[in-house]
Amino acid sequence: MRLDIEVLRQTIMEAIEKAGDPEALEEVRRRYLGRKGELTMALRALGELPPPERPRVGERLNALKVEVEEALTRKGETLARAMEEARLMAERVDVLLPGRRPRLGYGHPIRLVWDEIEEIFLGMGFTIAEGPEIELDRYNFEALNFPPEHPARDMQDSFYITSTVLLRTHTSPVQVRTMEALRPAPIRIIAPGRVYRRDAPDASHSLLFHQVEGLVVDEGITFADLKGTLVAFARAMFGSEREVSFRPSFFPFTEPSAEVYISCSCGKGGCRVCKGSGWLEILGAGAVHPNVLAVSGYDPERFTGFAFGMGVERIALLKYGIEDMRLLFENDLRFLAQFAAEGR
Ligand SMILES: [Zn+2]
Repeated sequence: MRLDIEVLRQTIMEAIEKAGDPEALEEVRRRYLGRKGELTMALRALGELPPPERPRVGERLNALKVEVEEALTRKGETLARAMEEARLMAERVDVLLPGRRPRLGYGHPIRLVWDEIEEIFLGMGFTIAEGPEIELDRYNFEALNFPPEHPARDMQDSFYITSTVLLRTHTSPVQVRTMEALRPAPIRIIAPGRVYRRDAPDASHSLLFHQVEGLVVDEGITFADLKGTLVAFARAMFGSEREVSFRPSFFPFTEPSAEVYISCSCGKGGCRVCKGSGWLEILGAGAVHPNVLAVSGYDPERFTGFAFGMGVERIALLKYGIEDMRLLFENDLRFLAQFAAEGR
């Protein structure tokens, strides 16, 4: 075997130098020092040399093997350091970069008004009651003194599920459920929640909307208690400068009944919002009808009470000056963002 050891040495050293990553370096090691590597084979072939040449060639090959092994080790360490540096650079955190501002949500105007209504009444000593949205006709109409032929009971106006089960059309059934559950008096609750009607959606109607019901029952409750409570509510919600007016009305489950108005923010001069009247209707109310008390297990000779109900959407439209109820349900972020500061 004729082998130019110096040429082999240069070839190996160049290959080691060129290896750009640990895999390439391992490939070089295999090619020269592996089981069938060139240098390994050369060492193995020593025996074929003429005896006088063996010691000299053997010594040079062994020295080359040591040199190659050292060079591989050095190159391996260099590559490992370079990769570690590259990794650290890639993962480097620039502590001077401005932070990413977390995107905060904000309350929907319906939720804001709902919360504010609750807060006002909780402050007056009311507690919060709840009832099911899928309701029995008995609670939604019958126990509330709706006569069988009342137009609200028409299939055209309400979402019936069966002939006796429907999506509640108002939060008033919670009055009856509360009176049944909380005997004896006193009762002082509000019941906020979703209600459903078969209305064609327009600027002031929606298939789904929100109401807050209120009910107070005790001995000696009078219409003056109703007026005092609702005037306090109206001023807390709309401002202490607002005037509050009670006008006779009719509901099957209250007697007498009233519609409650506040003076318009135009100062009663008349504007588009109040349609020139200077007054805005905010809710309906009345003394609990003796029939409703009796059906719910209260002796109407001993107990009296008052009830009220308001549309959360209506309060939101009036409070924020929104002209079309549909805006509350379209959830356009440009619209909703205007209320970002309200809930803070
Ligand atoms: Zn007005």
